[in-house]
Amino acid sequence: MSKSFLSNIALWKKILIGLILGVGVGAFLGADAEYIKPLGTLFINAIKMLIVPLVFCSLVVGVTSMQDTKKMGRIGFKTIAIYMFTTAVAISIGLGIGTILEPGAGLNMVATSEVVAKDAPSLVDTVLAMVPKNPVGALAAGNILQIIVFALGLGIALTLIGEKGKPVVRVFESFAEAMYKLTEIVMSFAPIGVFALSAWVAGKYGLDILLPLAKVIAAVYIGCILHVLFVCGGLVGIVAKLNPVRYFKGITDAQMVAFTTTSSSGTLPVSMRCAHEKMGVSRGISSFTLPLGATINMDGTALYQGVCALFIAQAFGVDLSSADYVTIVLTATLASIGTAGVPGAGLIMLSLVLSTVGLPMEGLAIIAGIDRILDMARTTVNVSGDLMVSVLIGKSENELNESVYNGVESIASDLAPSKANA
Ligand code: ASP
Repeated sequence: MSKSFLSNIALWKKILIGLILGVGVGAFLGADAEYIKPLGTLFINAIKMLIVPLVFCSLVVGVTSMQDTKKMGRIGFKTIAIYMFTTAVAISIGLGIGTILEPGAGLNMVATSEVVAKDAPSLVDTVLAMVPKNPVGALAAGNILQIIVFALGLGIALTLIGEKGKPVVRVFESFAEAMYKLTEIVMSFAPIGVFALSAWVAGKYGLDILLPLAKVIAAVYIGCILHVLFVCGGLVGIVAKLNPVRYFKGITDAQMVAFTTTSSSGTLPVSMRCAHEKMGVSRGISSFTLPLGATINMDGTALYQGVCALFIAQAFGVDLSSADYVTIVLTATLASIGTAGVPGAGLIMLSLVLSTVGLPMEGLAIIAGIDRILDMARTTVNVSGDLMVSVLIGKSENELNESVYNGVESIASDLAPSKANA
C-alpha cells in the first residue's frame, strides 16, 4: 500500500521533498551532515557512469536517424549561435545586477600579493584538441567534445554505407535504449542522492559563513532567476511559440539534480531524459544539443563571472571603464565556453576574466569560500539554458512532439529513438 502510494508521486516532487528534508536535516546536524554525504556521492557516481555510453550511443543513433548532412550542418550552426547569444545576454544581466546592487560596495579591501591567473587556451589548440587521436582514449577519458566529434563522424559514415551499416546501427539503437532504461533506474534514486547532497551543503555552510557575503549571493541568485524566467522562458514563448510554463515543468528534474550536484555534465543523462520524455524533443536533436551545451554553453557561469568581477572591483575600489565592461563580456563568453561542466570550474575561469581586466586575484579567495552556493545556482541556469536551446532547435526543425510537450501524450522511456521525427 505505502509502496504504491510512493510510486504514484511524481519524481520531481520526491526530489523536491528530498531537497527540503536535506536542508532541514543538514541545518540540524551541522558539520556531522558530512556523514550523509557518501549517499550523495554514490548517486553522482552512478549518473557519471551513464554519461559516456549514453552520449556516444544516442548521438550515433541521432545522426543516423537524420539521414541528411545539410540539416545537421544547419542545426550545428543554429545551436552554437543561440548558445553564444544567450551567454552574452547572461553576462550582461550579471553586469547589470552587479551595477545596481553593488554587492562589494563598502568592503574596502586592499590587494596585496600577486596570484597567478590561469592562461587562456589558444583557439587553435582548442579546435585541434576537439579531434581525438584515439577515440577509445577519448571515451575512456570522458572528453565530451572529442566524443561528439567521433560520434558525428561514425554516424555520418554509417549513413553513407547504407545497408552495410544497418547491423551496427541496430547495435547502437539497442545499446542506447539500454542506457535510457539505466538512466531511469538511476534517477529513481535521485531523491535520496539529492537529500544527502543538500544535507551536506546545509551542514557545511552555516549562516556565519554566508551572511557577510549575502549581497553577492543574492545578486547571483537574483540574476539567475531573472535569466531563467525571462530569457529562457521568454525565448521559449516568443521564438518557439510554446507555453513557457510547460518548459519550466519539463526541466524541473534536471534543475534539481543540477542544483545539488553542481555539474552540468553530470546532469546530462537527466537533461536528455527531460528533453525527450517531458518535452517531446526528438532524440536526434537532444542527443546533439545537450552534450554540446553541457560542454560549451554556460549562461549561469557567465552571469556569475559578471557579478563577481564587479563585486571584486567594488570591494577593492577599482574603477572599471566601459571598455573594461566590453572586455568582461567577451572574455566571460569565451571563458564560459572553455569551462568544463564540473563542480567549481567557473571559479577557475573567473581568474581569466579578472586578469584580463586587471582585477586583484585575491578576490578569488573571497569568492572561493562560498563558491559551492553560487555554483548551485549557476549550474541550474547552465542546464536550463541547454534545455531551452534543445526546445528551440527541436521546434524550428519540426522535431518536437507538441502533444508530448503540452502533456497531452506521454512518451514511455522504451520507445524508439527519434520518435518525434518518425
Ligand atoms: N559547475 C558548473 C557546471 O557544471 C560549471 C561552473 O563551475 O561554473 O555547469
